Formats: sequence, C-alpha cells, structure tokens
Amino acid sequence: MSKDVALLGLGTMGTGMAENLLKAGFSLTVYNRTPEKAQALIGDGARFVSTPSEAARDAAVVISMLADDAASRDVWMGSNGALTTTKKETILVESSTVSPAWIAELASLASRKGAKLLDAPVTGSRVQAKLGQLSFLVGGDDATLKGAMPILKAMSKEIIHLGPIGSGAKMKLINNFLCGVQVASLAEGLTWIERSGLNVEKALAILKAGAPGSPLFSAVSARMTERDYSVNFSLKLMEKDLRYAEVEAAQNHVSLKTAKAARCLFEMAAAKGFADKDMSSVIELLRDKITPIQIEKQIC
Ligand code: NAP
Repeated sequence: MSKDVALLGLGTMGTGMAENLLKAGFSLTVYNRTPEKAQALIGDGARFVSTPSEAARDAAVVISMLADDAASRDVWMGSNGALTTTKKETILVESSTVSPAWIAELASLASRKGAKLLDAPVTGSRVQAKLGQLSFLVGGDDATLKGAMPILKAMSKEIIHLGPIGSGAKMKLINNFLCGVQVASLAEGLTWIERSGLNVEKALAILKAGAPGSPLFSAVSARMTERDYSVNFSLKLMEKDLRYAEVEAAQNHVSLKTAKAARCLFEMAAAKGFADKDMSSVIELLRDKITPIQIEKQIC
C-alpha cells in the first residue's frame, strides 16, 4: 500500500499519533486549524498543508483526531473539507470521540464518494498517544480494517474490531460514561475527605487498595491532590462525552441518570473557567463552598 497518510487535528492526542506515524516511516501530511501546533512535527519530517482537502488529496489513509462532532463535520465536510478530495480507494479513519449518529452520516457521505470509513476512537491519553500505546476500538468492515492495519499498528498496543461501522463510537461512549461518572464521584469523595478531618493520604491509600480503586482513580486522585490541572484530557471534552453518551444510551432506552449528574458538575466547572483545564480540575468547583449552589441553579 501507499505510505502516504494524512492526519487532521494536532491537539493533545493527534500530535502524539503523528509523531509515531513519522517514527514508523510513513510519509505524513498534517493539517491543523491552528497551524503553529504543527511546527515541531514539520521539524520531524511532516508536511503541513493549510486545508483538509489538500491533506487528503494524495493520501491512501486519512485519519482525523478532532474535538467533537462539530469539528469533525467542519474538517470532513467544510468547503475545503477532506471529503472534497478523497478518492474511491481512500480509507478514512475517524478517531475522534464523536456520536454514533455522526459516524453513520459520515459513512454514508464517504460511501457516496466510493471511500470506506472506519470509526476508530481510542482509549489511552496523552502519554499513551506519545508512546504509540493507544488502544483502537474499531467499527467497520474487515477489508477496510486490513487496509488501515499497518497505520493503526504504528500508533497502538492493540486494535479491537468490535463490529460494523459505529461500533467503536458506541463502545467509546460507554467507556467514557463510566470514566466521567467516576471522576465526578471522586471529586465529591475527595472533597468530603478533605473536610472530614481524616488524613487525606491515608484515606486515599485505603480507597486505592480497596474496591473503589482503579487506574483512573489513582491517576486522577493524584492530580486532584497535587492540584496539577495541565491537560491530559480536558474538562470540556469529558462534558461532551457524557452528553453524547446520554443521547446514545437513550436510543437503547437507557436513561443515564448518573451521567446527567456528572455532566452537571463538569458543566458547572466549565462555567467557572475550568473548561480548558484537565478534567480533574472539576474538584475545584466543590472545594469552593459558595458558588456551586449559585451556578447549580442556573445549569443543572
Ligand atoms: P484537543 O487537544 O482539544 O484537540 C482538539 C483538536 O480539534 C485540535 O486539533 C483542534 O484544533 C481541533 N478542532 C476543534 N474544533 C475545531 C473546528 N471547529 N474545526 C477544526 N478543528 C477543530 O483534544 P484531544 O485531547 O487531542 O482529543 C481529540 C479527540 O480524542 C477528542 O474527541 C477526545 O474526546 C478524544 N480523546 C481524547 C483523549 C485524551 O486523553 N486527551 C483520550 C481519548 C480520546 P486547534 O488546535 O486549532 O484548536
């Protein structure tokens, strides 16, 4: 297969993914709305172009790693969108966490051009993206996945084929629903511990070693206690994932009440200025004794 790959979106995740594609020897063209973010990658051998359509023109595989449905729609379907230049054999890989409804629409637009789409969102965060240790959750047909396999392998430790198009997006929302609820409840639990007079270190050690412990609990509680909110996964993206999860679960007649409660906390924290900080900063909303009640009345 051609080694020409295009990557659209150089945020926290896209940048690490691009680095690993270059390391694996692919000829990489990148696009990002904010061009400055491509500087280091250009130094490493990537070709930067100023529109998604130009990025997709000669690529055998086009991957996008963007914030949400709206960003994905702009980049694939805008007047200079990647779909304007994709060819019959081009493989499109949507790795952003987006809604299954948008994946279905994108798949139908792609098929009108004769192109094939995989939805392949990822688990893992900034560090795993940089180390090429992501897990891809893939929806799509076998032949298309086979075509994209060498490229996905360069960025990941595992590639899990879940079923037809949309399966990856569904699985990813279930995954992040469970993560979002846990982060929100951890923020409440830790605030409670801090105000209870218990020794915070001892209390967290008990919880980590006990039934509530999880990799997420360990990573996020450390960030909350250190008040380190440099972004691994931004708060606004978690709010988005919970919102999409609620809509998607409702399609299956499941009402995600805990997602709604967690999303409310993330929305309130976003309104207080934490949208672009790490999701762990949601605890600052609760550490502040006064404003949550005022904001809650407006938002939840
Ligand atoms: P990020 O750092 O916020 O980057 C978002 C990217 O989307 C940037 O390239 C941004 O461009 C672009 N973008 C946003 N709105 C746009 C628009 N309207 N038009 C064009 N481009 C637009 O996000 P990330 O953390 O890399 O996450 C990317 C995706 O992966 C998200 O769907 C997220 O939910 C998912 N994800 C994230 C993590 C994580 O730990 N961070 C883990 C798994 C999955 P600019 O640079 O110009 O703003």
